[in-house]
Amino acid sequence: MLDIRIEKTTSPKEKPAKDAKLGFGKISTDHMFVMNYTEGKGWHDARIVPYQNLSLAPSAMVFHYGQEMFEGLKAYKGVDGKTYLFRPDMNAKRANNSNQRLCIPQLPEEYFIEAVKAIVKIDEDWIPTAEGTSLYVRPFIIATDEFLGVAPSKTYLFIIILSPSGAYYANGLEPVGIWIEDEYVRAVRGGMGFAKTGGNYAASLIGQVKAHNDGYSQVLWLDGVERKYIEEVGAMNIFFKINGKVVTPMLNGSILPGITRASVLQLCREWGLDVEERKISVDELIKAYEHGILEEVFGTGTAAVISPVGKLRYEDEVMVIGNNQIGPLSQKIYDTITGIQLGKNGIHPEWRVEVK
Ligand SMILES: *Cc1c(COP(=O)(O)O)cnc(C)c1O
Repeated sequence: MLDIRIEKTTSPKEKPAKDAKLGFGKISTDHMFVMNYTEGKGWHDARIVPYQNLSLAPSAMVFHYGQEMFEGLKAYKGVDGKTYLFRPDMNAKRANNSNQRLCIPQLPEEYFIEAVKAIVKIDEDWIPTAEGTSLYVRPFIIATDEFLGVAPSKTYLFIIILSPSGAYYANGLEPVGIWIEDEYVRAVRGGMGFAKTGGNYAASLIGQVKAHNDGYSQVLWLDGVERKYIEEVGAMNIFFKINGKVVTPMLNGSILPGITRASVLQLCREWGLDVEERKISVDELIKAYEHGILEEVFGTGTAAVISPVGKLRYEDEVMVIGNNQIGPLSQKIYDTITGIQLGKNGIHPEWRVEVK
């Protein structure tokens, strides 16, 4: 068990109104979790303190070489009024895969889960309850050695902050337009693509700016070598329904192994659908589109759960998918996963972990 020292705020902030438009990641709660790592001593001094600024030396390593990782999950109120997390064990495991790649020390999985539960419990009253809303949980680790040399840091901070977040879609599941990027790449095999780390996002911003300038909301990245095979969207994995089959790019080292992705794959297999994890080229997509068998396209990720894609642009080609409407499979998956999270359908109760 983690021994967590708790210092409660003496000046709690005002919580957003019940019907407030929360947006995503804009509001912080009253508290945060902090723990230090020091070489030779390990992880120590777990504490929950009032949400506050950090004080770091300008030479702290994270500012220069980007040695950091993060995670993202959500806390919800179930229909029984209790507080739940969705598969936090998978976040804890993935955190350590990211840590390993970034030479950040391993964080015992039980520490990760206990810390998330403890901070969510303290700020439980911040969990919004309107449909589609949740408390977004952002754990992250940063390198803090005061040193300009290039080497793994010997000290770190593990921090968890919380942010009440609104329904991802103001007007239901609206399909998004996606730009298939043919110039820049996000990650390469052997790089950090499979790790959740800021560097991957830094590399992706320029593509996002291009896409936004052209009226598309997200970028779909191609493989870093041939720029021919589909990888994933900015912060989502991607699925296609082609001629009745559910197809998603296989995990090849440059794609983030999403927890939503894994859950969607498992559900589709349990429903008896044909599911394929494999390489998918842009050419194959365009051909499927031209033959009228590209039936549905959707992104998967914690923030939106399912994000239907209504439009896909590649060079001169603009593909309009499913009449720019959400498809039946996308809708069924969305309803099932959110139903599991809220405890409405009795499916996979083990995917929900109560915060007591
Ligand atoms: C977090 C993330 C995803 C989605 O993962 P989930 O665990 O489903 O939220 C997909 N791609 C990238 C690059 C990510 O950072």
